[in-house]
Amino acid sequence: KGSTFTHSELAEIDKKHYLHPTTPPKAHYLSGPPTIFSEGRGVYLKDLQGKERIDGVSMLWNVNLGYGNEELAEAAKQQMLKLSYSSSFSGQSNEPAILLAQKVASMAPRDLNVCFFTSGGSESNDTAFKLARFYWKVKGKPERTKIISLDQSFHGVTVGATSATGIEGFQKFTTSNAPNFLKAAAHAVEAELGDKTDPNYTRSIRGTIEAEGADTIAAVIIEPIQGAGGVRFPPKGYIEAVRKLCDEHGILMIADEVICGFGRTGKMFGVDHWNVVPDFLCVAKGISSGYAHLGAVIMREHVREAFVQSDEMMFHGFTYSGHPVACAVGLKTIEMIDRDNIVENSRMRGEELLRGLQYLEKNHKHVTKVRGLGLLAGIELFRDPESGIPFAPSEHAAAQYTDICMELGLQLRYFDWKGTNTVALAPPLIITSEQVEEIISRMDKALKRFE
Ligand code: PLP
Repeated sequence: KGSTFTHSELAEIDKKHYLHPTTPPKAHYLSGPPTIFSEGRGVYLKDLQGKERIDGVSMLWNVNLGYGNEELAEAAKQQMLKLSYSSSFSGQSNEPAILLAQKVASMAPRDLNVCFFTSGGSESNDTAFKLARFYWKVKGKPERTKIISLDQSFHGVTVGATSATGIEGFQKFTTSNAPNFLKAAAHAVEAELGDKTDPNYTRSIRGTIEAEGADTIAAVIIEPIQGAGGVRFPPKGYIEAVRKLCDEHGILMIADEVICGFGRTGKMFGVDHWNVVPDFLCVAKGISSGYAHLGAVIMREHVREAFVQSDEMMFHGFTYSGHPVACAVGLKTIEMIDRDNIVENSRMRGEELLRGLQYLEKNHKHVTKVRGLGLLAGIELFRDPESGIPFAPSEHAAAQYTDICMELGLQLRYFDWKGTNTVALAPPLIITSEQVEEIISRMDKALKRFE
């Protein structure tokens, strides 16, 4: 038994006292939590109603090494007993943070060699925005403050990260968006390469830089593959084109690898697919496999060099920057990624997953598109209301399909903003071939329910 409480006992308390993130408050207050998880082992989850599910999305794309891992628990325990916390302010330090910084630097592309630690993805992106502005300040160009991000991007929910986020719901939620954040059309590769006849030209990054003046722009931030925007892959040549564009105008490039980092896409980092080196690379999630709150901004030597050359104080730091327990868990996570060939497993199981999704696409008329790289994949669902195909109205198809998968023992997430209608797959990177087959078989059964 997972708890001394029943589902309904806890659900009543939850409704009264717990305001949930990214949840409609009214619906939740009325109906309570649909699931109360109680246990996790490997890729499997259990809840208080006795249901078992395969976690097809690593919960929030973060539990990359699966649940209940003894080694990670032991690393946390040992560090808690040895030194449970120490500050990193005023240059004070601790062993796990130092060794993690070294390890991350050795893995990140080229001269991305210097780490600033945070507690998660939003903090990493906010830090990159502030450090980009700090960079220009110490370089004597304080007017370079603007940050350009893409439509449909997701960078987190702190004020800076939300201001950069391109998904409409997050943008419109409150009026707290910070000034000097600009949105550009996503993935307009021809325009970024300089084609002025591209209809997206004025809203492209290039068009935006021209309109605003390069000397007002601090940085461009992109996700190598957009996650919450609907698992959107960039067109061929896009990531390279953004790097080139930034170089042309001396603009800093930030890669938000909060999802892609640490093996998710079948390479260590997303940008490794294109051999592009950003000036800042932001990570979180997979760096600790969800066992500790940890993120990092990894920056290139020239960025740190600018800070060192100036005599300015860096007024930026979180209480939990360089938390020794989080960093010990991060170190163990990376040791296991290396030792257990996790990135290679992600690549190979990812190929199997994509083949499975292509099978579903071939055999089910409602699956209109599938895409994947490593263990990051998406399927689009659609029903043409004209054709009379008996399926859920298209704007709810992904949501309804995800609900059925949940019932059939598969945890997935859907994205339905602006007709995205995409169901995301991002299972733990430790998944086996048999478990990939099980995911496809459950998805197949769920699709048959509609027909
Ligand atoms: N960036 C990306 C690409 C993300 O997917 C997320 C979270 O899903 C974030 C940033 C925010 O990370 P966190 O929720 O750890 O603040």
